[in-house]
Amino acid sequence: MAFSPTDIEKIITALTVAAGFSLLIERAIEWLKHIIDGSNINQIRYQQLTSKINNPKAEKTINKYHNLLQKLEQKTQEIPPLVNTQQQKYQSPVIPLADEENWDESQFEKYSSIALSPLAPPLKADLLNAQLNLFYILSAVGLAIAATSFMKLHLLSMLLGKSDLSVQAQLLDEVISGIVIAGGAQPLHVLITFLTTKKMHLEEISAQQKQTGKVISEAREVKSKSDTPVNTNPFAIIYQGGVNPDALELTHLRQQPVDMIIYHHTAMHSGLAFEGIIGEFIDSKKWLTAYHAIIMPDGVIHPFCRWDRAGNHCIGFNQQSLAIALHGNFHSITDDDFSNHDGRYGNKKPTSAQIQSAACLIELWIQLYAIPVNFNQNILPHCDVLAGKTVCPGNQFPHEILQQAILRQHQQSLSLRNIDNLRQQFQLKPYVMA
Ligand SMILES: [Zn+2]
Repeated sequence: MAFSPTDIEKIITALTVAAGFSLLIERAIEWLKHIIDGSNINQIRYQQLTSKINNPKAEKTINKYHNLLQKLEQKTQEIPPLVNTQQQKYQSPVIPLADEENWDESQFEKYSSIALSPLAPPLKADLLNAQLNLFYILSAVGLAIAATSFMKLHLLSMLLGKSDLSVQAQLLDEVISGIVIAGGAQPLHVLITFLTTKKMHLEEISAQQKQTGKVISEAREVKSKSDTPVNTNPFAIIYQGGVNPDALELTHLRQQPVDMIIYHHTAMHSGLAFEGIIGEFIDSKKWLTAYHAIIMPDGVIHPFCRWDRAGNHCIGFNQQSLAIALHGNFHSITDDDFSNHDGRYGNKKPTSAQIQSAACLIELWIQLYAIPVNFNQNILPHCDVLAGKTVCPGNQFPHEILQQAILRQHQQSLSLRNIDNLRQQFQLKPYVMA
């Protein structure tokens, strides 16, 4: 289903109203939790009582009982709770965040298998908590449906732009609206932000279509020939800061301007999904960053580390470079460890869609960060930067084909009359320039 910017505008309005309602419901549930959690109320009562009393004798008595209560609480804490010992049995020790800058280079891009840890059985306390949470969720849904019905807030009809729905459809609409609103204001805000970016992106494309009709129609032609998402328009690449950009707000600030693009292979099985790849870095290694983007075998571009931050991919060069990794293991020297000569890691070479998308993204970076198109100094494979220390991106990597694709992309950009405009527009997006 395709939406126009005006359709999206309508949806955003409906969602904003819903987010307002969500906040109200959240407050109500918060209030309910306070009532159920009696200890909070008792604490407030004690404070209110002591603040009102000026009689030293009465104050002394209250303090005595308060101290007694505190002692009793301490005693209860000393009794080892059964739940905790059970919990400890299933919880793994907390692993401190790895020191990204001093990692062991010999362990990087070498994977023999992806480990899975067994799931712990649910605890009694967890079940109780789950029941209580279910109660809160159902209360929120009930309250939200009552509110939508009372205020005649019909999200579905707002989204569809229809006001003449039947009674049954209206009822259904109220229930659906209630459920959406009960989901909370935060997911709604995430959705609103996503749609706003999408709308800006659509407006950008329609502006580009007017100015560069030829380039777009060429891209369409390529697209219609196959189902793979071949990227040929660098400025149409969708970038919203990669994976969890806010985690990098105060860290990994680049110490030097970018003047290099280093390309890698992930060295993992080409069939592993993007979530699995980032899990390898974020969950297993406890790293915040790795490559700036990963290109999947079907040509899909997944931004990973924020582009305005230093990644973690090539020791000694992280501060001045951007990293792109083509997903797969393209090394096939039989005697080497982690070699893919027998296809144990899936694809033995990058696909043409992967090469094309990589070239397209590299050209976008060339434009955004003014990187010279020089394959001896500025755009290099990992193994040329750290000669002798890594085989990445593998001996089967078609360097020349990638270079030619980059040159074609670069020529195409140079022929655009509005290149300065496109570049500046992209640079204004969040998380692009530090
Ligand atoms: Zn590498």
